Amino acid sequence: MQKISIHDEDKLKEFLSQNKIPPFRYSQIENAIYKNFITDFNKIETIPKDLREKLKENFFYDSLEIDMQKTSENGQTTKILFKTKSPHPNPLLWEEREQYEYIEAVIMRHLTGRITLCVSCQVGCPMWCSFCATWKLGLKRNLEFYEIVEQIMYAAKLVNEQGGVLRNIVYMGMGEPMLNYDNVKKSIDIATAQKKINIANRRVTISTCWIVPGIKKFTLDFPQTSLAISLHAPNDEIRSKIMPVDHTYPLKDLMKALDDYVQKTNKRIFYEYIMINWVNDNIILADELWKLLKGRLAHVNFIPYNPWEWTSSDWFKPTPRFIIEKFQNILEKYWVVSTIRATMWDDIDAACWQLANKKD
Ligand code: SF4
Repeated sequence: MQKISIHDEDKLKEFLSQNKIPPFRYSQIENAIYKNFITDFNKIETIPKDLREKLKENFFYDSLEIDMQKTSENGQTTKILFKTKSPHPNPLLWEEREQYEYIEAVIMRHLTGRITLCVSCQVGCPMWCSFCATWKLGLKRNLEFYEIVEQIMYAAKLVNEQGGVLRNIVYMGMGEPMLNYDNVKKSIDIATAQKKINIANRRVTISTCWIVPGIKKFTLDFPQTSLAISLHAPNDEIRSKIMPVDHTYPLKDLMKALDDYVQKTNKRIFYEYIMINWVNDNIILADELWKLLKGRLAHVNFIPYNPWEWTSSDWFKPTPRFIIEKFQNILEKYWVVSTIRATMWDDIDAACWQLANKKD
């Protein structure tokens, strides 16, 4: 019989009921897993031995293995390379590495004390954003909800052992969350449930490169959860050159969906704007940007481009700091709030758009 993930609450409750095990046992298991970080069913001492045996026979909590873990020199960032236990390892592939799939998560310890985890939701990505290392892997598959939850649980445990608390999650790792909507949704439900990981809804952020139907669903399902949009240009002409998704969902459709989101949630949207020299940093664009966002509940996050060996070229260089500051000053004049994201983790290839399963 195929085993089931221990994070599948409905199936676990059904199993307990079918085996005439009292419902309070579910709370004990839940408490052991999410509050005490127990991953080995043998060690759940609050439940009888025969139930532990039954859990071992029917459930699993090991869909991911740690393949590599690396912390940046300044200690602020830890990148974790997970090896998935692929549901269908291909025995025809000779190289062991090729029989598995790899995903990455990054823990960021900010100087303010805030600790954030960036999680992956797909193995690879199909979106072809030209400045990003992930799409070069292609899309292998969507992650299951429990594979996303296991990334979160691993990080939460690690941070806990180091005396901290994981309080923020961003779905900004490998993959486009709106293309794996159901699994992402289930993982957010588990991450935010009080009796489980208990992260406040507003501290969970979904980052999308503007898949409009996904944003519409998200507005209905998660009015409390934060939304970040990979904008990267204030017009279709430039955006479509660096992000092919623009051909499918042009700017006016996106802004309409975002206005609906703000109307329903009254929440500020984070607009990410990668700064690539000579590509999207002409100062004229700062004017277009404030005109686009003026009067909207918006926060622009300027992110200096992080060079990476697969994406660097003569056309892809980081914008000099003084140009980013000029953009910021122009936005400020028109009351559009913005920040410049500090990059502190590129010595381990863990910065934005550098996630590509690189091992060394
Ligand atoms: S930026 Fe995000 S959506 Fe675009 S290719 Fe990279 S992982 Fe995919």
